[in-house]
Amino acid sequence: MSTAVSTTPMHNRVQEFVSRPRKMFVDGKWVEAASGKTFPTYNPATGEVLAQVAEGDREDIDRAVKAARRAFDSGPWHEMTPSQRGRVIWKLGDLIEEHLEEFAQLESLDNGKPLSVARIADVPLAADLFHYMAGWATKIEGNTIPISASSRHVKYLAYTRREPVGVVGQIIPWNFPLLMAAWKLGPALATGCTVVLKPAEQTPLSALLLAELIAEAGFPDGVVNVVPGYGETAGAALASHPDVDKIAFTGSTEVGRLILQAAAGNLKKVSLELGGKSPNLVFADADMKATIPGAASAIFFNHGQCCCAGSRLYIEQSIFDHVVHGVAEQAKKIKLGPGFDPDTSMGPLVSEEQMNRVCSYLESGLHEGAEAVVGGHKRPGAGYFVEPTVMVKTKPDMKVVREEIFGPVVCAMPFRDVDKLIAEANQSEYGLAAAVWTRDISKAHRIAEKLRAGTVWINCYNVFDAALPFGGYKQSGWGREMGHESLELYTEVKAVCAAI
Ligand code: ADP
Repeated sequence: MSTAVSTTPMHNRVQEFVSRPRKMFVDGKWVEAASGKTFPTYNPATGEVLAQVAEGDREDIDRAVKAARRAFDSGPWHEMTPSQRGRVIWKLGDLIEEHLEEFAQLESLDNGKPLSVARIADVPLAADLFHYMAGWATKIEGNTIPISASSRHVKYLAYTRREPVGVVGQIIPWNFPLLMAAWKLGPALATGCTVVLKPAEQTPLSALLLAELIAEAGFPDGVVNVVPGYGETAGAALASHPDVDKIAFTGSTEVGRLILQAAAGNLKKVSLELGGKSPNLVFADADMKATIPGAASAIFFNHGQCCCAGSRLYIEQSIFDHVVHGVAEQAKKIKLGPGFDPDTSMGPLVSEEQMNRVCSYLESGLHEGAEAVVGGHKRPGAGYFVEPTVMVKTKPDMKVVREEIFGPVVCAMPFRDVDKLIAEANQSEYGLAAAVWTRDISKAHRIAEKLRAGTVWINCYNVFDAALPFGGYKQSGWGREMGHESLELYTEVKAVCAAI
């Protein structure tokens, strides 16, 4: 592997981590794939192989599911009190904080994001998620319910229990590898489930480091199993496994549909966090000092590889040129480079495939008559770099306006009429997020109510918190992650009714 492009020295532990093939974590042990196969993960800043990783497939998934089943049905996890469970989850949060630099470096190397961003966003948010969820372990309660079947002769005591759903399969994407693992594992562990986690094949490393800490934190064997591998093999085997009670997936809407089909066999519970094409609405009365950098960051954060990226920028006609110019100036200031370079503000896209995908959208937009005010191309040379791009003169039926690009490409469109604006903003198969920028706070809340999206930001964007539920309307998904809503994804409600 190459460190030639790095200007930040690589942490010794990270150097060691990538220098030999990584095994998978099943039943508390580090094991090779049943097939003995490994697959490469790449450094997207150079295109070179970063590390080799055990390639999980059907047999490995089956072993992991059996281990998770044993750990769920019997053994120490089953016996642990909610307070003890909360304590190990909290400890995991502490351990992530202690290993912040290693995680940030692995994330930057594997995914491409700037090290500085991984240090202040991905890793602290992941630690905070576990700390937040640790508190819920002792607060998962049912209700006592007065039922009308009671009479003078027979009295009933009726109550509900919230019980863990069982063995959970979790399939996560590559855009925030550690954070997505935290969003998935946190509520599953707080509720007492056991897990088989499959990280994305592009970015398996941070989940494997996390598994080391899971063992150190004191989770019993088999409670969390991490099986890296490809989606069509390991992922499909997990989604269709007959002994998995629930599958939680984050990724593309297209694969979300495949997950649903695979889950139909045993009708396992399904939660999905899928794509988006989020509208970002800018009014003439907005504070431009906050709005222009906010609108730029809404699309360019994480190189646009965010399911909630503000990729449709609607700007009130009277300030259209001013805002477009401002966002384009912000784009010009973005320094593309390897994540380890402290001057880098935007790294490469995660893979060659992703770069080609984004470039084909750029070509399609330009071909259909849109114009790039800034950007519009990939950067020549090594690595998967695409210029931050602002497109204008788009039409509502263009692919660049309708489809999720998952890259640093925003379509800026003028509006005059608020009702038409809301209709246009909602005219999408997606409904993950939206934002409104205005000084008129009543208008902002009235519009927030009308937007068909799981999150609406007002005068801000990309604000995430472990306590704030996140998820999609329409084809952006099923269920909400984070917040106490996420506990519902991992619990069954049992009604107990006793004649007394
Ligand atoms: P992207 O297209 O952005 O790479 P995907 O939705 O393909 O995102 O991938 C998200 C996750 O889903 C990854 O962990 C990937 O391995 C997994 N995956 C891909 N295809 C399947 C499939 N057919 N069944 C189960 N998991 C899959």
